[in-house]
Amino acid sequence: MKRSVVRTTCTPPSAAHTATSSTYPHNGYSYLRYLYQQAFRLGDLAEQNGDQPTADTYWKLTRQYRLAYQDALHTAEVNGRSLIDWPWWSLMQVFLSEEAIHFIEDTAGYNSLWTQGSVSFTVREDFFFANDTDLFGRQPSTYVPLPSADTAWHHVKKGYSDFVEQLYDQFLQKGGNIPKAGTEAINGLNHQLVRFAQSTEGDPSAGYDLLFYRRESGTITPAQAAQQCAEDPTKCRHVHAQYVVLAMPKRSLELLDQNTPFFQDVTVDRLLDSVLDNRSNRFFMAYDTPWWKAATTGDPTYPPLTRGRSNTDLPIRQFYYWLTNEQDGPSIVLASYTNARAQRFWQALEQPFDDAYDDLVGAVVPPPGLGGSAPRPVDVRGKGPRAATTTMAKMAHQQLVEVVYGKPYAEIDNPPDEPYYAHYQDWSKDPWGAGWHGWKAGQDEYQLIPQIIQPSPTEDVYIVGECYSNIPGWVQGALNVAEVMLQTRLGVAWPTWLSKGGTWLGPGSEGLNPLA
Ligand SMILES: Cc1cc2nc3c(=O)[nH]c(=O)nc-3n(C[C@H](O)[C@H](O)[C@H](O)COP(=O)(O)OP(=O)(O)OC[C@H]3O[C@@H](n4cnc5c(N)ncnc54)[C@H](O)[C@@H]3O)c2cc1C
Repeated sequence: MKRSVVRTTCTPPSAAHTATSSTYPHNGYSYLRYLYQQAFRLGDLAEQNGDQPTADTYWKLTRQYRLAYQDALHTAEVNGRSLIDWPWWSLMQVFLSEEAIHFIEDTAGYNSLWTQGSVSFTVREDFFFANDTDLFGRQPSTYVPLPSADTAWHHVKKGYSDFVEQLYDQFLQKGGNIPKAGTEAINGLNHQLVRFAQSTEGDPSAGYDLLFYRRESGTITPAQAAQQCAEDPTKCRHVHAQYVVLAMPKRSLELLDQNTPFFQDVTVDRLLDSVLDNRSNRFFMAYDTPWWKAATTGDPTYPPLTRGRSNTDLPIRQFYYWLTNEQDGPSIVLASYTNARAQRFWQALEQPFDDAYDDLVGAVVPPPGLGGSAPRPVDVRGKGPRAATTTMAKMAHQQLVEVVYGKPYAEIDNPPDEPYYAHYQDWSKDPWGAGWHGWKAGQDEYQLIPQIIQPSPTEDVYIVGECYSNIPGWVQGALNVAEVMLQTRLGVAWPTWLSKGGTWLGPGSEGLNPLA
């Protein structure tokens, strides 16, 4: 069906500023984005070469393009509705048939792309993302090529938790003093914050009283915590603090005792309600051998699967081939990468809990560095709903095999053995409530982020994290907003290790970095 559409074009600051001979045949958003990426690339290169004056010029250009884009978000209209007010799926419906939308959703691997969240978030992700393909895989410039058979894939040697471990070690080396979980320290890890309130109501200078519950497994409600504390006071710890920094997402905030002046404030309530949840779960399976390397579809145009990622419209949606030791021994696959609608497919198979695939719930032994084997499970039970059920594991295995072989499972001669271990993790559970978040349509994060960092001007309570950031869904968003809070509210200086070129910390950071 042909639809009537009003388009507006946005004029970039000046194409003549870009020191490139490449031309891009389109106008408007794509061209602006192209210029931004080019300026970014040139700024990066100049900085790497130690050419500071040139780098500064390009960083100032990226700023100009970013501001032009930001302006266009508010001024551009489609069918009389401002871009910032459009939900993403609805806007795409203006331009594409529903069949085309489903096709993109199926082939992109991410159901979470098609939320009714803010179009400004989705398009901005496209605008700023260093990868130079847009959401539909097109390449308006050549900063980072699309993955190919030759693409190298990297991962953290000992897994992502090693990053946190190393941060923690460096924190201790610098004189930090938060003891690890399991110690008796008052503010040790593994404690659930249950409630906080001003020590003297209306007087932030008197600081805050916080109640922590020593968590054994799962998350408990404030009422349950009160009961537990009454029965066994050693399970609860009272802490006094001058400031409260809540580095947690929406659902975690909702689980805190809401019966305090801070949460009773309607402005705070409205601010915290400005995001949507994107539900996610993941599935990991360990096999005795990397059978996918030898599997073939029979079609010579498909290269052998040795590394990287595959997409499918089956409910596992995406998978990554992970640790494979050099001798092709035990290997692991991130066997489902599911969000939104596909998340619910697996969530509904979480029960019965006593149907665990391998009766091993919780932690696995970390791999002994790269080149080692896939992790072997250890018997750690009762860590929450993390077990893959038998139905889940068998279905995920069969879908994986079907995609790799390119035909229905029943037609595959000698299909590979089932995994020796399957692990499932669901971030829609408490206390997270979602894998990540996105701004609701009509919510202008350029205005909201600086407010949410300190939602109530009469309280020294700060909120940081991915959830209310300029890059929701990414660690970078959490780091950005934390840095803005530290610098603008607690007076911490710009860190010496953080380059000013190319670093924009998002709304609220105005004035912190003259180059951004
Ligand atoms: C499956 C998946 C894949 C992802 N992939 C990527 C990726 O490839 N790249 C990327 O950059 N980002 C990725 N992300 C997003 C990234 O993980 C998040 O953006 C990031 O972890 C957010 O950090 P945060 O500190 O804001 O929140 P969190 O990491 O959620 O930290 C909040 C912490 O607060 C704790 N908490 C909650 N309530 C309480 C309480 N009452 N008391 C004490 N502690 C509490 C929680 O247990 C949690 O540890 C992914 C996320 C998921 C779920």
